[in-house]
Amino acid sequence: MEKIQQEIARTEPDVPFRASTKHVHHTWAKTFQSRPELYIRPRRLEEIRKIVTLARRCRRRLVVVGSGHSPSDLTCTSSWMVNLDDFNSVYNVDVQKKTMRVAAGIRLAQLGKEARKYDLQVPNLGSIDAQSIAGAIATATHGSSLKHGLLSENVLSLTIALSNGHAVKCSKEQNQDLFRAALVSLGALGIIAEVEFQLADNCNIEWEQKLVSLDHVLATWDTDLWTQKEFTRVWWMPYMKRAIVWSAEKTSKPLRAPQGSWYGGSVGFHTYHNLLYLSNYIPRILPAIEWFVFGMQYGFSPGKTTTAVEEMADGLLMNCLYSQFVNEWAIPLHKGPEAISRLSAWMNGDPGEGNIPFSAKGLYVHCPIEVRVSDTTYRSTPRPFLDNTYEHGPTLYLNATLYRPYLQDPPCRDRYYEAFEWLMRELGGKPHFAKNFMYTTSEQMQGMYGDNLEKWTKVRDEVDPQGMFLGEWHRRTFGLGGRYEFAQQEREIMRRNAPNGGQFWVGEMEAARGRPGEGLSNSMERTFEKADSPSASSSGESFDMMYRAEAEKSTRLQTSGYDEKDDGDKTNADEGVYHRFHGNPKDKTTGTAVFDKISVDATSSSNPPNILMSRDIASSRSWVGPVDKSLLEKVLGSGYLAKGGLGEA
Ligand SMILES: Cc1cc2nc3c(=O)[nH]c(=O)nc-3n(C[C@H](O)[C@H](O)[C@H](O)COP(=O)(O)OP(=O)(O)OC[C@H]3O[C@@H](n4cnc5c(N)ncnc54)[C@H](O)[C@@H]3O)c2cc1C
Repeated sequence: MEKIQQEIARTEPDVPFRASTKHVHHTWAKTFQSRPELYIRPRRLEEIRKIVTLARRCRRRLVVVGSGHSPSDLTCTSSWMVNLDDFNSVYNVDVQKKTMRVAAGIRLAQLGKEARKYDLQVPNLGSIDAQSIAGAIATATHGSSLKHGLLSENVLSLTIALSNGHAVKCSKEQNQDLFRAALVSLGALGIIAEVEFQLADNCNIEWEQKLVSLDHVLATWDTDLWTQKEFTRVWWMPYMKRAIVWSAEKTSKPLRAPQGSWYGGSVGFHTYHNLLYLSNYIPRILPAIEWFVFGMQYGFSPGKTTTAVEEMADGLLMNCLYSQFVNEWAIPLHKGPEAISRLSAWMNGDPGEGNIPFSAKGLYVHCPIEVRVSDTTYRSTPRPFLDNTYEHGPTLYLNATLYRPYLQDPPCRDRYYEAFEWLMRELGGKPHFAKNFMYTTSEQMQGMYGDNLEKWTKVRDEVDPQGMFLGEWHRRTFGLGGRYEFAQQEREIMRRNAPNGGQFWVGEMEAARGRPGEGLSNSMERTFEKADSPSASSSGESFDMMYRAEAEKSTRLQTSGYDEKDDGDKTNADEGVYHRFHGNPKDKTTGTAVFDKISVDATSSSNPPNILMSRDIASSRSWVGPVDKSLLEKVLGSGYLAKGGLGEA
């Protein structure tokens, strides 16, 4: 800590370092928690660059967290956590080209709201818009449409603060390798600070929701199931062998609310939640729950249809209900019927037909299994190195959702996910990076990505030679750090059950091994300090090239004055610990909302679930206000606080 204090004293006093020491991080689903040493909320690019410089000098790993919607341990750290919620300005809107340049902390909901002021819209969304734009891009977030690919296909350029403290711009035309690596970066490249995004005209969508048999889904798979409308998604009910097909097309028709139902709101929400809880103790009731809950919601026999016209930004969203594990894989679309038929047979007690080498005896799973699509083959942006979609045709996503009723893990998870992942791999699949895949080894991942992983790793290592942005998730998933150790890499040393469910994750800096509390040796420090100078870069030519590429331009960010706060983050004090949650699945417990397109809760569309908010204890202007100043003084030194160094500029 003394080291941190000394290093802060060496940096520009005019640039604040807005850090707190009492933050507890958890994912939206409360699947993982961790307690970062510092939680830092910059408001300007200069502050981001200062954070990087300090982290390098203090030998700390940096983890950027968006809205914490990735349910894995991807964003867990015991080192320094950076959150860009206060770095969310709109810099520029080009109405003719329909483009927008934004600070990367902006949430998709905010981005859409700003775009609609110009009659523009985000062209494609997933089930929610609570994610930060940088977080959504970083994990290959997708919606469900064969006319769209990943959300990142609309990214025109990115500005990234790299580990040497320089902000570098990349795009299709400029630093293309860095761009391809950064389009799915998993937080391991640097801090994405600015995004230039392609928008589309704003419009309404008319959607239709139909209850059909699974046989109907399979029979229309190759004809018009996925092509009849621009957006289509399917919720598969595994035991009833039925599905809800939701499809939507752009329209100029006026808004028309869906038909309401007494069951679709909080009654349905709480009924399903409690029944799921009961099923944790008596799993065999799950098929009956599926029949009852989804029958009440969508009808007990196929044919029931619901329609509505909504603004696209609202209509594409759904309420994801409760805390959950999700294990979603991308496979070639043409393998879909085989995947669904085999999984269906396996789950329904026909192991021969399923041909999956794991027993399903006594195993019962949750409903629905999400079935979605994308097509990344005709995009104009370069393909990200870590794109998980099918390169030669349309992609199918199968998402094995398992709810955690009242934050309790379901008993079927391990066996279900092991078998599911086995099947997905057999069918040429790749996992969604944000989600809870757990039975796939780094060797298998290396096999799936081949040269592309090599290329991504090469760029990554060049721009972050000390592993400032590398953590256990990256090591475990790709085998990074196995070849050689990165001085600033963080390793997991322990995880234990958290009191309120989920796991508490504890990490240790690679550099701290053998020298607790401190970082690299002085000689390594000197070597890396030299690498600050582009001409002395230890990482070869391309790092120099990246340094020169528009570093100056990208530091001159002008804000348009947009500083509206979203207001869904939860902050509370618990035993003197400052919690600033990035999301909370319990926030929205009043309705099944878009999950239930039949009855839309009045607040659900305009106020999508789990948007995170900056309801700071003090105010958005003085974020440091609530923090225990005596503790901060201990950490950062009284001189620094007296100078107003923390958030009081
Ligand atoms: C309820 C729910 C619904 C979802 N629906 C969908 C869906 O429909 N389709 C889909 O594909 N996914 C979906 N997801 C997954 C979600 O889109 C991803 O987890 C996404 O990454 C979350 O964005 P975030 O801002 O919360 O990022 P986080 O989860 O906070 O972070 C994700 C990654 O991005 C990195 N990161 C964040 N900001 C930056 C930055 N500025 N610079 C560098 N790296 C950064 C982090 O370090 C981390 O590696 C859903 C998740 C939930 C919980």
